[in-house]
Amino acid sequence: MEIEKVLDAKMDHVKSDKVIAAVKIGSDLRYYLGKFMREQGYVEVPPVIISPLTDPLNHPVFDPVINYYGEKYSLTKSMIFHKQIMVQSFGSIFTFSPNIRIEEAERSSTGRHLSEFTQLDVEKRGATRDEIMSMVEEMITGLFRYIREKDSELLSKLGRNLQVPSKPFERIKFLDAEKQYGKDFETVLSKKKTEPFWIVDIPLQQREFYDRESDTDPEILVDMDLVYPEGFGEAISGGEREFKLDKIKERISKKGQTEEQFKWFVEFARRGLEPSAGFGIGIERLTRFICGFKRIEDTHPFPKVPGEFSL
Ligand code: AMP
Ligand code: MG
Repeated sequence: MEIEKVLDAKMDHVKSDKVIAAVKIGSDLRYYLGKFMREQGYVEVPPVIISPLTDPLNHPVFDPVINYYGEKYSLTKSMIFHKQIMVQSFGSIFTFSPNIRIEEAERSSTGRHLSEFTQLDVEKRGATRDEIMSMVEEMITGLFRYIREKDSELLSKLGRNLQVPSKPFERIKFLDAEKQYGKDFETVLSKKKTEPFWIVDIPLQQREFYDRESDTDPEILVDMDLVYPEGFGEAISGGEREFKLDKIKERISKKGQTEEQFKWFVEFARRGLEPSAGFGIGIERLTRFICGFKRIEDTHPFPKVPGEFSL
């Protein structure tokens, strides 16, 4: 690696008009989202960065583990379990949660994967999926309206005409979308659509064990993804959560995972969890969509692009 060349490239990146505009817009959107969540009665809780308990995810990532006083702790992939535990005390919570997922190097080609990113991670005790979806629609439309006005100069410099979508967003069932457009329906639909849309009722094996199985539709989860239009792909994943011990155990085993892997969460469930629902939205992907960028790395001064040297 030629140090001079690398430093020049990094300096050019940090100083580029695109990155500067995106970081300013990112700052405004964090302001708006924090304000929005507080106005909805949510408490901002601190993020958790290391823990013996983290999200198993539904796709392979390298698991960076640190030695913490002789115990194995993972860097947080998502705060799903901590959210489920914290809603017991606070009712409605949000956090800007740094996530580390060492994604496979090929994922750099998607333009929407980083190995270090931030989620606005939200959870509400006793909420239904519908309630959360309506709140998200309120949040997205309010945010786009705010950014259009506050950052109109930056947006026009970027050549981005950000439209405020109409509510309610379209809902498409996972199996219907798959039937009509094949396995890669998310990409196809994302390119075809001009407004964000929901994919709902996702089959059990497609997601992690903690999303709640429908009472009326076995093997179908009461969860949802929000997908950006114009080919930008997935924005949000969320849903109602499993909270009953027996159900959690059954779902862990259906995934071919072990209770030992999630023993701390299982122990909390044994002591009693309450129902909740929530979602996570990737901040860099949201910034990328608002800016209309091809690549997610232009939203961050020090992006961790999978497989590439990063500072
Ligand atoms: P998940 O629950 O795994 O779907 O993650 C929640 C949200 O975080 C996703 O919908 C994305 O917006 C964002 N996200 C997940 N993985 C990445 C990644 N590697 N890079 C950037 N954003 C991500
Ligand atoms: Mg997802």
